[in-house]
Amino acid sequence: MLEGLRRAGYQAYLVGGCIRDLLSGKKPKDFDVSTNATPEQVRRVFSNSRIIGRRFKICHVVFGREIIEVTTFRSNQEPKHDSFKHQTSGTGMLVRDNIYGKNAEEDAARRDFTINAIYYDLKNSELIDFHAGIYDLKRKVIDMIGDPQKRYLEDPVRMIRALRFAAKLGFTISKRTAEPIRRMEHLLLQVSNARMFEEVNKLFLTGHGLESYRLLRQYGMFEILFGGLEQFLDNPAFNSFVEYALQSSDERYRDQKRNMPHFLYAVILWPKFQSAVSRLMALNDTKADRVSMREIADLACPAVLKEQNHITAIPMGIAESIRSMWSLQLQFLDIDDPDEVASIASKQLFRGGFDIFRIRARFEPYLKRYVDFWQPYYDQSAQNASRRREAMEKEDERRNERVSKAEFSKRPQIPDISGSNEVFSDDTDAERQDRLARARAWRASMHLDP
Ligand code: ATP
Ligand code: MG
Repeated sequence: MLEGLRRAGYQAYLVGGCIRDLLSGKKPKDFDVSTNATPEQVRRVFSNSRIIGRRFKICHVVFGREIIEVTTFRSNQEPKHDSFKHQTSGTGMLVRDNIYGKNAEEDAARRDFTINAIYYDLKNSELIDFHAGIYDLKRKVIDMIGDPQKRYLEDPVRMIRALRFAAKLGFTISKRTAEPIRRMEHLLLQVSNARMFEEVNKLFLTGHGLESYRLLRQYGMFEILFGGLEQFLDNPAFNSFVEYALQSSDERYRDQKRNMPHFLYAVILWPKFQSAVSRLMALNDTKADRVSMREIADLACPAVLKEQNHITAIPMGIAESIRSMWSLQLQFLDIDDPDEVASIASKQLFRGGFDIFRIRARFEPYLKRYVDFWQPYYDQSAQNASRRREAMEKEDERRNERVSKAEFSKRPQIPDISGSNEVFSDDTDAERQDRLARARAWRASMHLDP
């Protein structure tokens, strides 16, 4: 892969999360490549690629099931020509930054944290570490490159990312990086709700949801991501309910099961839904022509989701699933009609809904008898699903054998840094000393060391 770019005369490095994870002994989720080739040039080198543009243009190169993100060197510096300026909103937030950088060093400076800016040059098998990221990896510290306040102003999502990496890696956030967060986190409300939805999913659904929740609460950021829950936040039952649910989805992730956003939102917003239902019910009692429980649920749900949608754009399909799971919470109390029971047990989200119900029952003991009633239906449904999954996996395997993954299997070998300082294997001693001295001087100038 990197070979392809180099043969075409371009520089190419592995960078970001994959190097960070490999160096800390974790399996990387995906691979990011940084190059001096423009997206269009990358596109020309790989026929199996496509340009996608979110906030900036990048190129996706597809190998079977894996996608490698190839990003062109970018720069954080103001260019000389006005016409090429970074576009910022009135508040200093970066709207677009498609300003290409000259080299990896310039590219490193626009990345977020030191541990995310370590480059691996396959040609010379060496790590290039402009911002002492390896030092921070060893100390287990999340530290912003440059002035944190300025970097949060450019992109408030970096505040979420700081907490996310702290949760995921079990690192601490350096004092200077943590300090502006409480004061600036309201800026997250200006970030597009589509991007916020993605970021919140990454916080909660990828194996460190519980730790993310604790950190968000500690920083007062949870209240920003999920507005209107203030009245429940100090309630120990709410806390335990959310923590228990997140812990169980972290376990699912470790068991290689997928975690879905509708579960997350159905759990966190549950008390809001419940209190909207009670409000409507109280209103209902005073009316002559009363509406059914199901109609009340159908009224309460959109109101709750609409409010949340301002912060995190909930796609329609997911909103529909949340509605079904909430509606199931009410239907589970209906166990007398055998036809109803059969219909509920065959619903698509029956198991997901029951997972939530079971967690609720830990904190609402009167639900226990209903859990006992539904449990056998759940077991049966789980068995059927696992049979279907096995059949599908077999089919998948057959298909995959046809896709050649030969080139992709040449995974890079990253040197082991644990306990050794020999990370720049090809450097002379003097070069290494010089690089470390520069990193140290930079750290000192930014008041990084305690
Ligand atoms: P993950 O394991 O979650 O994929 P990652 O570090 O790879 O973590 P990505 O969102 O895939 O995170 O981003 C890849 C790299 O791009 C990061 O490591 C970082 O160097 C840079 N980056 C991503 N988002 C930002 C941002 N908002 N500001 C600055 N740099 C960023
Ligand atoms: Mg990544």
